[in-house]
Amino acid sequence: MSSSQGWQVDLLEVAQKCVYCGYCSLCPTFKELKWENYHPRGILDQIKLYYSERIKDNLKNDVSKSLFDAIFACTMCKACENICIVDLPLLKVWEQVRQESFKRGRWNSKLLSLYNKVKSSHNIYGLPAEERVTWAALSNMVMTRRIQRKAPLAYFIGCQASYSGKMEGVAESVVKILRKSKENFTILGTEEWCCGSPIFLAGGYSVGKSFAKHNLEQFKKLGVKRVVTACAGCYRAFKVVYPRILGEKWDIEVLHITELVNELLAEGKIQLKKKFKEKVTFKDPCELVRHCGLIEAPRDVIKQIPGIRYEELPSNREDALCCGGGGLLKLNDDNLVSQVNSRLITDIQYSEADIVLNGCPTCLDTIRSNLRKQNLNVEAIDISEFIKRAMELK
Ligand code: SF4
Ligand code: SF4
Repeated sequence: MSSSQGWQVDLLEVAQKCVYCGYCSLCPTFKELKWENYHPRGILDQIKLYYSERIKDNLKNDVSKSLFDAIFACTMCKACENICIVDLPLLKVWEQVRQESFKRGRWNSKLLSLYNKVKSSHNIYGLPAEERVTWAALSNMVMTRRIQRKAPLAYFIGCQASYSGKMEGVAESVVKILRKSKENFTILGTEEWCCGSPIFLAGGYSVGKSFAKHNLEQFKKLGVKRVVTACAGCYRAFKVVYPRILGEKWDIEVLHITELVNELLAEGKIQLKKKFKEKVTFKDPCELVRHCGLIEAPRDVIKQIPGIRYEELPSNREDALCCGGGGLLKLNDDNLVSQVNSRLITDIQYSEADIVLNGCPTCLDTIRSNLRKQNLNVEAIDISEFIKRAMELK
């Protein structure tokens, strides 16, 4: 398995470097399923067998069943890679094995359907591009003059905030924050294509590259120098994956909404005024904290709200618990998502917070559904919506 592309690794070589220290036993999937096959080091063992030149065809087939099953039970939370004592590039390994499973025709129908939808419609729902700005009409906002205008800053909305009724408050909040600050910004409208995140999580870098190229071309056409997003998946795609696949051509500065808000606060362009009675906490999305190292920006914003009562979750920052919804696990095993999420809900209850803030549509969706299931009176909202409230914007 020699590597032919910059983003690929030699799977056998990586697997053989594992020293079986077991530090990666913190894997959320392994904690729930408790089988060595699902342990990161157990997955590496199966990789060694699968790629062994001496393996017989029938055994290879058996190994592939359990290997591909384990690889799609992974939430791509990156906890294993971050703790690995010998710095193995585990996420790249997991992505490549997912591609191997695709090449062998072993994806389940839900995965295939998502993949085909993104490829053909450029969004995760398979909906027409013209509906990308429907959220604005639903929020009674007129965006016509913002769409595809020349500006140094672009707000990249992302599929979930654009199309999903559950997330439309995110786009509305970010746009209201930017308008209040009087920043000159643009949105891509019908020319915004999915950032490619689901395709990258499935290891489809060759297909995902056309998405990266398209979005970059649109930014260049409009003279965009900086792009801001409130979605952890889009942020990771721009921050980690686009530089990997586009190299130096990707020269756009990438900002999470909380990084931009800190800047706007420092420049006096916006103010956080509202006094909250509620106690709040923040759940670090895996894709922000472990994949991108974005740790303090959300906390810096929250601390600037006058008199705010803020409590960290017991597991926070790089040690944050996974919500269970990442890595396309929802398409594979919804029960496992719920099991992983239950540990996070226990953490949230322990903090005694009234509001849990977050920065990832997938986390929000899984947290909200488990809060509902357990009948808990905790509100879960995106941090951009909370900032809008703190600015007292209607
Ligand atoms: S990325 Fe997370 S879920 Fe996947 S193997 Fe590593 S620790 Fe487990
Ligand atoms: S932390 Fe790294 S070296 Fe240790 S068992 Fe896990 S994968 Fe192997």
